[in-house]
Amino acid sequence: MKVLVINCGSSSLKYQLINMENEDSLAQGLVERIGIEGSILTQKVPGKDKYIIEQPMKDHTDAIKLVLGALIDETHGVIKSMEEISAVGHRVVHGGEKYATSVVINDDVMASLEECVKLAPLHNPANIIGINACKNLMPSTPMVAVFDTAFHQTMPQEAYMYALPYELYTKHGIRKYGFHGTSHRFVSAQCAEMMGKNIEDLKIITCHLGNGASLSAVKNGKSVETSMGFTPLEGIAMGTRCGNIDPAIVTFLMKEENMSADDVNNLMNKQSGVLGLSGVSSDFRDIENAVKEGNERAKLSLDVYNYKVRQMIGAYAAAMGGVDAVVFTAGLGENAPETRKDICAGLEFLGIKIDAEKNNVRGKAVDVSAADATVKVFVIPTNEELVIARDTQELTSK
Ligand code: ADP
Repeated sequence: MKVLVINCGSSSLKYQLINMENEDSLAQGLVERIGIEGSILTQKVPGKDKYIIEQPMKDHTDAIKLVLGALIDETHGVIKSMEEISAVGHRVVHGGEKYATSVVINDDVMASLEECVKLAPLHNPANIIGINACKNLMPSTPMVAVFDTAFHQTMPQEAYMYALPYELYTKHGIRKYGFHGTSHRFVSAQCAEMMGKNIEDLKIITCHLGNGASLSAVKNGKSVETSMGFTPLEGIAMGTRCGNIDPAIVTFLMKEENMSADDVNNLMNKQSGVLGLSGVSSDFRDIENAVKEGNERAKLSLDVYNYKVRQMIGAYAAAMGGVDAVVFTAGLGENAPETRKDICAGLEFLGIKIDAEKNNVRGKAVDVSAADATVKVFVIPTNEELVIARDTQELTSK
């Protein structure tokens, strides 16, 4: 069985074709600038040259047509016909309170996704467009939606409620939802496997540190707390997002800087985080280079970032009444030994201690904890596409 995984953004689309017999990735690609001048598809197939198609794509249907064409291309493709694709798994950002697991897409599901647009106005519309485009081109292929929010639906009410008037929860659904659920689910399961233990007996803190970043407290295999909230803005500082701040700063800025709601939203989402603090970049590689050149504000931005993650790890140990393992994943978590070291420095009182030599690793699943640590620390590369493909296979082969 071969599953096509689609992750649709407003003007981009990531895809991967996975052979479920051995879970090998047969091809992966990225389409950028959909509906904008300069549309481009780039496909990578192990052992073959990169395949690039530059041609106008007016919408996502055009883009998916080209994706299917690239996959069956005689020279650059990996399958003979579209019929070889047994099912399509779609990443969907928001499933609201309705979806605690992945689901086969039907008309009811599509209606629910529309209802969730209010909660994720930047993401769900693109996901819906992607699903509709696939349905047009492959009407008889079953499709599954895998939600970023689903894994966190197990949080207890005390964790997901904000101390706002209760009516805002019932009227607008204002509560913590959490994101990156597919990643937290994958790495926590992998962590239990690496420990040779049943996940039901473990307390795990997963740190997904990429462009966007979130932590999750996974107790007995269930998410009981996570750092992103009603939107992906809450939590730790990120590349360009501020994370937790005093909410009164919002109205202060509106008054003192004469900013509109959209202005403040843009400032907090796009101009803050390590970019805002350092004035250098949102990419941690640039910041690390600036630190090496003696840039004080770049250093400050990393100090703030690491402090906030460290604090959150402490908070999540408290939320679970202990911790057995900490997992680092995503772009920064997998590839930045310095950051992992700095985050863990000061957490020895919890039993968290990294082995400097073992920690000198990038992009591999490794136990990096010191011999005398009582809490295991792991680096585990995330694989959200594989989770989407596995769920899709499971639900469509029933
Ligand atoms: P996204 O949220 O876009 O999926 P990723 O998980 O790919 O993000 O993470 C991207 C970020 O990871 C980059 O912005 C960069 O800051 C960080 N990163 C990637 N590789 C390294 C590295 N070798 N050293 C430090 N940071 C890295």
